[in-house]
Amino acid sequence: MKTARPTAKLTPRPIRSAVLLAIGSELTVGETRDTNSGELARFLAEAGVDVAWISALPDRLETVTSALANALVAADAVITTGGLGPTPDDLTREAIAQVCREVPAVDPHLATWLRHLFERRDIPFPETNLKQAWVIKSSTAIPNDRGTAPGWWVDRPDGRVIVALPGPPSEMRPMWQGWVLPRLEKRGFGQERITRTFRLTGIGESAVADRLGEELLRAQNPIVATYARADAVDVRVSAVPEPRRSAASILAKAEAAVLAAVGDHVWGHDDDTWSSVLGRELVEKGWDAALVEVGTGGSATRLLGEATWLKASRSIATGDPGAELPLAGLARQAGRSAGAWIGLAVRAVEVGDDTRVELSAVGPWGVSETSQTAFLGGSEGRRRAGIAAAAFLHEILRTALAARLSSTAPPTGRQ
Ligand code: AMP
Ligand code: MG
Repeated sequence: MKTARPTAKLTPRPIRSAVLLAIGSELTVGETRDTNSGELARFLAEAGVDVAWISALPDRLETVTSALANALVAADAVITTGGLGPTPDDLTREAIAQVCREVPAVDPHLATWLRHLFERRDIPFPETNLKQAWVIKSSTAIPNDRGTAPGWWVDRPDGRVIVALPGPPSEMRPMWQGWVLPRLEKRGFGQERITRTFRLTGIGESAVADRLGEELLRAQNPIVATYARADAVDVRVSAVPEPRRSAASILAKAEAAVLAAVGDHVWGHDDDTWSSVLGRELVEKGWDAALVEVGTGGSATRLLGEATWLKASRSIATGDPGAELPLAGLARQAGRSAGAWIGLAVRAVEVGDDTRVELSAVGPWGVSETSQTAFLGGSEGRRRAGIAAAAFLHEILRTALAARLSSTAPPTGRQ
């Protein structure tokens, strides 16, 4: 496909910020989820491009036009997905043309390519489709190998860029990766951004926010943000360089502040999972473990099940034989029957609106036991009981055990 050439003389402008617009009434009536913007945002954020905002818009010309105009004031690049179909309701090209004060015209090369696509499939060419061969003076068509909707790359006189991509993810992705990205990179795309994630347990997101304080959480650089995940509360710290300070030094200072505030709850970093973190501790000692859980619906196994160090796991329902036995006995039995160094047992019992979690671990150091109350009952309480089991073992391996082992004889062998 031959593409049109932009004629305007360009002001060099690196791409440091972007606005994402997802266009299509199917999005605003809730029929289709906007997955495109999330994918692009993640990519942009990783590249150090600040995504100023993301909007989903209906197929309405005034709405799309004003969103484009606003975005062009705020960001270096505006990236749209959707609205490039052949039907009158697909209006992205019209909106861009209007914002640029240009008039769309059929590009003969694109028209030939488009007609050829229909000929190949032996279907008559609907003239309405000619719209997909439109260009404006400042646009360059972005080839689409998987559909009939070419995208547009539009150069604004001030160096900003509008990129219009089709809605179907299978078309949008290769066009973004193969065509748009290399050109954005040539412009100077993003900036160095380094990040560090701390993974926390035993503390809620709001308590984390409280400890971190407003000053840290509202700063623009570094950015410190909290996320409640299924297996942890994450604190993500990221930094970009400033004229006189490197990103690394800004990050280091923020890391120190985060650790001072919530360091006592950190169990992992970045991509760590419970099973990888426990695995590291165990492999270092040459140990493995077996798990038995009671009344948890198997939540600890689901959390740790992939782990190679977990030799066996068993889930007992409340009321089943064995469910009432002393927990240390269950732990010891689990370790013994699997031939594992450590036997770990967890029992969840709903008490009122919350869940009482009992924990026991038997290993070369002896027996460790504790209990705690997990917030909420039901499946949420059971899920938290699984995390509590992982956190309990982690605590033993990391602290209590280290203290014990340094003052006593070496471990004596398997259960
Ligand atoms: P288009 O013809 O370019 O407006 O896109 C048509 C189709 O792409 C829609 O019917 C959806 O299936 C899909 N689509 C459009 N926008 C999105 C989006 N933001 N995220 C995911 N899929 C989308
Ligand atoms: Mg559409």
